[in-house]
Amino acid sequence: MDFELTEAQRDLQRRARTFIETEVLPHYRSWPVTSADYSPELTARLKDKLAEYGLTKLIVPREFGGQGLGAMEDVIVLAEFAKAPRRMPGGPFAPWPVLYQAPEPIRQKYLYPVLEGKTGWSMCFTEPQAGSDLARIRTTAVRQGGHWVINGTKMWRTGHHGASYTAVAAVTDASKGYKGISVFLVDNDTPGFEKTRDIPVISRTWGIEQEVRLENVIVPAENLLGEEGAGFEIAQHQFNRFRMRLGGLALGIAERSQQLAVEYASSREVFGGKLADNQAIQWMLTDNHFDTESIRWNTYYAAWMVDRGGYNNARLQSSTVKGYCIDAGLRVVDRCMQILGGRGLAIDDYPFGDFYNHLRMCKQMEGSTEIMKMVMAREILNPKR
Ligand SMILES: Cc1cc2nc3c(=O)[nH]c(=O)nc-3n(C[C@H](O)[C@H](O)[C@H](O)COP(=O)(O)OP(=O)(O)OC[C@H]3O[C@@H](n4cnc5c(N)ncnc54)[C@H](O)[C@@H]3O)c2cc1C
Repeated sequence: MDFELTEAQRDLQRRARTFIETEVLPHYRSWPVTSADYSPELTARLKDKLAEYGLTKLIVPREFGGQGLGAMEDVIVLAEFAKAPRRMPGGPFAPWPVLYQAPEPIRQKYLYPVLEGKTGWSMCFTEPQAGSDLARIRTTAVRQGGHWVINGTKMWRTGHHGASYTAVAAVTDASKGYKGISVFLVDNDTPGFEKTRDIPVISRTWGIEQEVRLENVIVPAENLLGEEGAGFEIAQHQFNRFRMRLGGLALGIAERSQQLAVEYASSREVFGGKLADNQAIQWMLTDNHFDTESIRWNTYYAAWMVDRGGYNNARLQSSTVKGYCIDAGLRVVDRCMQILGGRGLAIDDYPFGDFYNHLRMCKQMEGSTEIMKMVMAREILNPKR
């Protein structure tokens, strides 16, 4: 068992850390809070800098012009990026893996522009009456000759700023439950596909979600992603990946929060000594250490499992990361807010408020904590041999 990062991984981590410490942390307070409001100049500058530091297309396979790195490298970089309470445009984003296997015309339209950072994508699985229980979605897709006709209402579309298309889940065979769900690539400017309302959320850095309606939306037959009826499986693969990646987010947030709390507690004078001299404060810092190290090793282990056998091989570990690390990260941020007193709550001075709200939101999306426990229980009760 080797707990060391390789030299190449340490180099990548150093580059990501230097990028954040040099190009982001000294400047981000003058930027708009959500990346959707960044000026074209700021976006272009950040993209150029990311390229300069060698931090683009990390997990994109080499045959598609990427660096071909693995899940471990992905979480290492995500952890460094998470230390700034702003989102990076065109950073180590992740297109749908299944698109790499799609026919060339589909790749040209929906994969390559994402890889080049020219556009983004959104995802519409959830509906007003169906979130955790995806089998209850009601949006339908009916085949008519060379195209599909989609009707329904979707909630919580994320990433719509700068996105040119949406992966929409719809029922293609109601008699088959999960196996009757398929995913379609729908251009956002398709007639009948429209936003019905914005849903602002508690994280100001995240942006605004949307509710959308699809009314007789016509989609070419070839825009079916993967096989008919494979929508749930495709979603599971994607969710396992998101879940593992959220461990990187929680790790970076916990590390940065602890660093700021240690600095503050070591310099703040109270009652004739340093704040850090008080055992109550020391214990909060040690509890933070327990949580941060648990996040680190759960996340690295999940990434290690993924690199050895793919995302479906690491279902239990990815769910552990999502179900445990987000809560552990929230505990760390909360303690750090307390250590900094009133300053801990000043959102323009310290990142804790943004960190907290961002993590709190992540506790619900990509499968809530309760759903993670449900997935974990299934894996625990029916272990793979
Ligand atoms: C900020 C944000 C962004 C999102 N982005 C997207 C997106 O881009 N695309 C998309 O499709 N969806 C998105 N979602 C939706 C998200 O995936 C759902 O919110 C999530 O799946 C939960 O579904 P729900 O909100 O309908 O809650 P429900 O399914 O109604 O569940 C309500 C609560 O009950 C709990 N619960 C449910 N079933 C059980 C059970 N059997 N046992 C115990 N507890 C249970 C859940 O954990 C939850 O806390 C986003 C959500 C948020 C908040």
